[in-house]
Amino acid sequence: MWFRRDLRLDDHPALAAACADGEVVPLFVVDPVFAASGGPRLAYLHDVVRALDASLRDRVGVGLVVRHGLPARVLPDLAAEVGAASVTVSRDYTPYGRRRDATVAEALSADGRTLRGIGSPYAVAPGGVRKDDGTPYAVYTPFSKRWRRTGWPEPVDVPLGDAAWPTVDSDPLFDRPDPGCELPTAGERAALDRWDAFRSADGGVDGVTAYDDRRNLPALDGTSRLSPDLKWGAIHPRTILADIDAGGAGDRGETVFSSEIAWRDFYADVLFQRPDSAWQNLDRSMDALPVDTDEVARSRFQRWCRGETGFGIVDAGMRQLAATGWMHNRVRMITASFLVKDLHLPWQWGARWFLDHLVDGDLASNNHGWQWAAGTGTDASPYYRVFNPTTQQERFDPEGAYVERWVPDPVEPMLDHAAERVEALRRLDVQRAARSAD
Ligand code: FAD
Repeated sequence: MWFRRDLRLDDHPALAAACADGEVVPLFVVDPVFAASGGPRLAYLHDVVRALDASLRDRVGVGLVVRHGLPARVLPDLAAEVGAASVTVSRDYTPYGRRRDATVAEALSADGRTLRGIGSPYAVAPGGVRKDDGTPYAVYTPFSKRWRRTGWPEPVDVPLGDAAWPTVDSDPLFDRPDPGCELPTAGERAALDRWDAFRSADGGVDGVTAYDDRRNLPALDGTSRLSPDLKWGAIHPRTILADIDAGGAGDRGETVFSSEIAWRDFYADVLFQRPDSAWQNLDRSMDALPVDTDEVARSRFQRWCRGETGFGIVDAGMRQLAATGWMHNRVRMITASFLVKDLHLPWQWGARWFLDHLVDGDLASNNHGWQWAAGTGTDASPYYRVFNPTTQQERFDPEGAYVERWVPDPVEPMLDHAAERVEALRRLDVQRAARSAD
């Protein structure tokens, strides 16, 4: 059983299938590509893997087998060493994961072994929500309706006790990088506890029921904080959805909260359909939108990164990110919009910064979240809708508590939003002219 983004023991269809087969060697491969990941994300991964190792020791008596190297080499070698006929995984749908798994499957098949994919990190695996004519959705709302109708199976039991767990030599795990911030407790137990705490009534109302009222207010602790757990599969979305009425007939909080899980599935599906959209505009006609990339642009970007734009809610978000490895969703949208439409920078610069600093950094959710803000992606937010950072702050941080918390030392605004809005729309005219000339 090769663990990747499914670092848990419960509600795990691939692990259940491996256990049903008899002997199981639980493996984690330290792939050289990890070195390119941001410190907070990698440190968190380290902690989740450690927690999985501890749970395995506790529940089956052997730890996780760690091996370093290219998966296409490590897997055939270990499979030969332990005499495994097959390697079981939860399917990965990212561009890199698909390429990697194809090479691993090929390398295994040279020895007559198989790579067996069961389940995915999503409620509905990419490719599983389709229009009547079999084509994918490009728009979130109809996707989410069909997603609810498609549904997902109940959580599965994992018969850990039915399998034998031979002892196999392990390498040490990679060194934990300094995340530069304090990280939440990691692992399956921590994830389930976080979910339980979110659902338990605090002052009479639980987090799911209150979600719709509180989720947009960054000064409150109104969201689940489960994104890093979902990223690494310390909890599966199915486990969460089974605890609420996610069919659309539940209370408003249940419907809105499950809609966020649907956004996660949607962006994974979009990236699956269009792997090129990881770093390129999904809407290629937006390539004609002029963006700034010179030295001045670089120094403006640095001010954004440091949280020194002079716009309170933008700076608060960037500083929350630096201090905690997490940023509230509303503020992710505001900071992203600011980078694209006030600073006129490529969204890819901001997306890279986020991936390097977020604990929950995830290619599909992040880069399509950025494309949403930049108006280059799926339909929802057309480019000409420009967020005003001042009115956003008045609306979503009316008492100023969030901004005060993160920005005790405000600086002068680095630009005039009204003027930059006009400039953003001028650039859109350039793009439109280029499009109609095509
Ligand atoms: P909750 O509000 O409790 O939501 C529950 C879960 O639903 C989240 O944990 C997440 O898995 C999912 N979810 C919620 N909102 C979204 C969304 N808009 N898109 C996709 N999934 C969603 N999310 C990431 O997991 N990783 C990222 O790298 C990431 N980058 C983003 C970048 C930008 C520019 C934007 C606008 C959004 C990004 N998001 C990303 C989505 C969202 O901001 C986070 O998932 C959310 O803030 C995590 O906090 P939470 O777990 O408390 O969320």
